Amino acid sequence: MQKITYHEITGTIRCVSGLRIGGSDDLLQIGGTDLTCVKHPVTLKPYLPGSSLKGKMRSELEQKLGKLIGNEPCGCATTGCLVCRIFGPHKKAKHELGPSRIIVRDAQLLEGGATELKSENVIDRKTGTALHPRKIERVVADSTFTLRIGIQEWDFDKDAPPYAGKKGGEALVSFVLEGLKLVQQTGLGSGVSKGSGEVRFEQLKVTGKDTTLG
Ligand SMILES: [Zn+2]
Repeated sequence: MQKITYHEITGTIRCVSGLRIGGSDDLLQIGGTDLTCVKHPVTLKPYLPGSSLKGKMRSELEQKLGKLIGNEPCGCATTGCLVCRIFGPHKKAKHELGPSRIIVRDAQLLEGGATELKSENVIDRKTGTALHPRKIERVVADSTFTLRIGIQEWDFDKDAPPYAGKKGGEALVSFVLEGLKLVQQTGLGSGVSKGSGEVRFEQLKVTGKDTTLG
């Protein structure tokens, strides 16, 4: 088993709406909000953990392939499953798929990055009054972050299932790009159904070559 090459998807993540990825409330100040967004512990600037984007892409791709069973990620560990091949089979220590192919780097702030407090509540449908009001912190719209995703190709990926007309390592890259497209269609972070988390992936390149999500 031999690693053949490393593909890298790079670009910019633009927040079209405000975006919230929950942080630890360790940084909570008295009188502050109870739901803070993730911030770098030293600079206190917001960033987007790679695990959040990776988890969202995985769940979107599982839905696309009909692999989302219950709330558990796919653990089928079959060689025909691109989700398990790329992201690693869930809760399976022993399998023949090799190491997870994808590496999603933390997305560092490029521009913007101010945070705002958004009031969220539940509306009582009978009386029209607000219940359980709370404030959530989110990164303001038009902030941008770095996008960097690595895909490690191994020799036995030549036998990977084809995707979007591509074979081998190129099928893996196409599948990950499809994941980004699906996240762009839905959103990232929390409160997506209430208008938060709309993102655009811009200036996309695959190992230095311009690409689009189609
Ligand atoms: Zn699977």
